[in-house]
Amino acid sequence: MNHFDYVNGQLQAEQVPVAEIAAQVGTPFYCYSTATLVRHYTVFTQALAEAGLDAQVCFALKANPNVAVVRTFAQLGAGADVVSEGELRRALAAGVPVDRIVFSGVGKTEAELTFAVAKGIMQINVESEPELEALSKIAAARGIRMPIALRVNPDVDAGTHAKITTGKKENKFGIEWTRAHEVYNKARALPGIEVVGIACHIGSQLTDVEPFRQAFLRVRDLVAMLRADGFDIRRLDLGGGLGIPYESEEPPHPAVYAKAIKDTLGDLGCKIVLEPGRLLVGNAGILVSRVVYVKEGATRTFLIADAAMNDLMRPALYEAHHTIEPVIEPAKDAPRLPVDVVGPVCETGDTFAKQRSLPPIKAGDLIVFRTAGAYGAAMSSTYNTRPLVPEVLVKDDSFAVVRARPSFDDMLALDSVPDWL
Ligand SMILES: *Cc1c(COP(=O)(O)O)cnc(C)c1O
Repeated sequence: MNHFDYVNGQLQAEQVPVAEIAAQVGTPFYCYSTATLVRHYTVFTQALAEAGLDAQVCFALKANPNVAVVRTFAQLGAGADVVSEGELRRALAAGVPVDRIVFSGVGKTEAELTFAVAKGIMQINVESEPELEALSKIAAARGIRMPIALRVNPDVDAGTHAKITTGKKENKFGIEWTRAHEVYNKARALPGIEVVGIACHIGSQLTDVEPFRQAFLRVRDLVAMLRADGFDIRRLDLGGGLGIPYESEEPPHPAVYAKAIKDTLGDLGCKIVLEPGRLLVGNAGILVSRVVYVKEGATRTFLIADAAMNDLMRPALYEAHHTIEPVIEPAKDAPRLPVDVVGPVCETGDTFAKQRSLPPIKAGDLIVFRTAGAYGAAMSSTYNTRPLVPEVLVKDDSFAVVRARPSFDDMLALDSVPDWL
């Protein structure tokens, strides 16, 4: 469900024609729908409430860290899951209350931990013993006991793309399952540390509820073991990872996911923290691009777009599929021919789709890449000295640029030449 539809033959974002935004902002740009963001957040939180869970949703900023997007969720009651000081600063700038911010990540620096402790955020998810020791020193020096969960690695296979699975024992994330109890004992003995819970996040774009259920059962066992040993485990942070349909996937509905939590962990009296990213923003965003050239190759036709892998990296990085559509609605009986949709960057990997069946599209036409709201703009770069792709937020019949396209002067001003040159 999203709010990008053809109306009178023209693709609209809510009530705004996409072509109108393109005329004002130029291409390429990301376009987000407020109504879709709100809907996804509401469906997710309602599913948790209907399962009777005492839950706090902490939006994983890394999926889409735009301050306007984060503020949209914050106003609905969302917290934030952050993985760097930069994201923590974004969450604060967006108005997320400090007592709803969780800090995750395998390599938090001393400076980052110090900043988080000083701000008094809800919880730090600690991923290793050295991190635990570093945090203990920082918090104890300030006379604070920092609430923490240990991120444990439940060693389950999320069954997703190898680059986005995180819960196997060979992954770099979390504390090995077999050592968890020992590290909890160590945490308890350290000054400046208050153990409040357990955290786990097994991967992203999961389209089956079963790996979640297995991980939650392992968490359940650990709760029992730790409570028997006198730990006051009162918060369970179950991470994010619920998938969305990009092509033909049929991920579980939030209600099925909520039921899996309820069935495995619902009777433990713990506050449940969830960190969805993709699920909340994925199909609330599109990337809008203009076709620069149609090139007839020897064996295939290339649509060369003005968007490239630096703007939307997922196809190059994960061979991800994004539905591509023209902004002008094609005739129902329009012929569909296989084309390769590529960007202008000097890499063969700068290919959005190979032999995709598309209706006739000519140079100058606007096209959109759907389901680009998660890990789209967030991963964009200026490779090939292409200006960072702008972002637009639509609400009803209005839109606003929420990240402007930098000028070439802005970009060049970031470099400096040493005085010996
Ligand atoms: C990436 C990440 C998330 C969000 O994952 P999604 O698949 O976008 O829901 C949540 N928690 C942690 C720790 C993460 O690394």
